Amino acid sequence: MAISTDFSVAIAGAGLSGLCLAQYLMRAGIDVHVYERDPGPFIRQQGYRIILDRYGLEALRESLPRPLYRLALATGDEPGGHLRFTDSRLRDAFTITFKDEPHATRQVDRLTLRSILMSGLHGRIHYGKAAVGVDHGGPAGLRLRFADGGAVTASVVVGADGVGSALRAQLTPDAEPENTPMAGVYGRSPLRRDGRSVIPEALRTSGVLAIADEVGRAFFFTSMWFGERPREAFARLAPGSYAPTGDDYVMWGLLLRQEEVPVSVRGNLLAMRDLAARMSADFHPVVRRLVDTAELDATVLNLFATGRRPRQWAVPRATMMGDAVHVMPPFGAHGGNTALRDAALLGHRLVEARASGTPVEEAIAAYQDEMVPYAFRAVDTAAGLMRRLTGGAAAPHWVLTRVLPRLHRVTVPEA
Ligand SMILES: Cc1cc2nc3c(=O)[nH]c(=O)nc-3n(C[C@H](O)[C@H](O)[C@H](O)COP(=O)(O)OP(=O)(O)OC[C@H]3O[C@@H](n4cnc5c(N)ncnc54)[C@H](O)[C@@H]3O)c2cc1C
Repeated sequence: MAISTDFSVAIAGAGLSGLCLAQYLMRAGIDVHVYERDPGPFIRQQGYRIILDRYGLEALRESLPRPLYRLALATGDEPGGHLRFTDSRLRDAFTITFKDEPHATRQVDRLTLRSILMSGLHGRIHYGKAAVGVDHGGPAGLRLRFADGGAVTASVVVGADGVGSALRAQLTPDAEPENTPMAGVYGRSPLRRDGRSVIPEALRTSGVLAIADEVGRAFFFTSMWFGERPREAFARLAPGSYAPTGDDYVMWGLLLRQEEVPVSVRGNLLAMRDLAARMSADFHPVVRRLVDTAELDATVLNLFATGRRPRQWAVPRATMMGDAVHVMPPFGAHGGNTALRDAALLGHRLVEARASGTPVEEAIAAYQDEMVPYAFRAVDTAAGLMRRLTGGAAAPHWVLTRVLPRLHRVTVPEA
């Protein structure tokens, strides 16, 4: 596809939404470049697995060349599965069953997904480029400025720089996210020990949210089984792209109140894992073993926040996507899916405007008018779920942890 250079897009942030938009625009022949703060592509942990829902999958299908979309499905987990809500001893309260359809919900490894999203963008992702602001850059352009003193000019600038967005204060000055009382210490543990799965067969295809008797404490875990080994699938569908090793693993998260995470622990991997071990001591032995066998360098602390609806978009021809504008607590698995949905929608609006001659400002305003309602519905849903599952409302908590588990059989023997 020939790239037209009279119209260009600069994206700050090579996360899920930034890369997805770059893929969409590349396919349409639009000159796009992505500027990423990290010094390289796989420098730090960017999460473990991610559940894609129909919005996320549809966005990928619309944005990626066909072989790359097939690669995402091939390396993902089997479709279907369950989300079980249990008490701390893994006794079932209730279960949600996901549709067993390939394009409905899929669990994929996040590193693998990022690698897929980077495929074919060679020379268009620029690392070590921390965006700091946007200026007017002449009659039809903006300047995206970087912390290193450099700048680039583009027709459109997109802030996809995640929860800590450096561009947000300028582009949507009234939309600084709000802190919540909750946090998560996340980890990853090998799925097999001595050749055997550490997850009991009864939970093989389940994510589990185990809710403790103590209000505001819960433990989540889920296994990531690669459908096809990334090395083989990449060799077939995206030769030359980086293929992660793809060892199956268990991703887990201890949910607790932010006030329970001392400042001295934050950023200290060992101290965070010790905190998770202490706080999960009363859970089922399966849970405790997961924390004990966690890979230390995969430990991450996340302080949950909720985005605020932007009332004004201050810089025409500049906009934002994903967590930069609508961060949400990780309940319901909407954050990444909404970010991908934004990317496909914005890509669609920009490409359509180029084809029809619609002013680009109108295309961006149409994107924003459509994105804000669905994204903030997702924010409200995620925040509501967090309150119901971990909040102080005594009755629902009592029903979840005391009543329902006693009505069900024991799922996982404690031996
Ligand atoms: C533990 C956990 C589990 C989750 N599970 C799910 C799930 O199952 N399903 C789901 O839908 N969502 C999930 N989410 C949420 C999801 O990960 C995020 O919503 C999603 O990554 C947001 O994508 P994004 O493109 O907005 O930002 P990110 O993917 O965070 O990317 C932002 C990028 O911008 C870069 N950057 C930051 N500052 C700058 C700067 N100044 N200049 C240039 N670059 C910059 C960052 O380095 C990063 O690469 C989960 C989140 C967590 C923490």
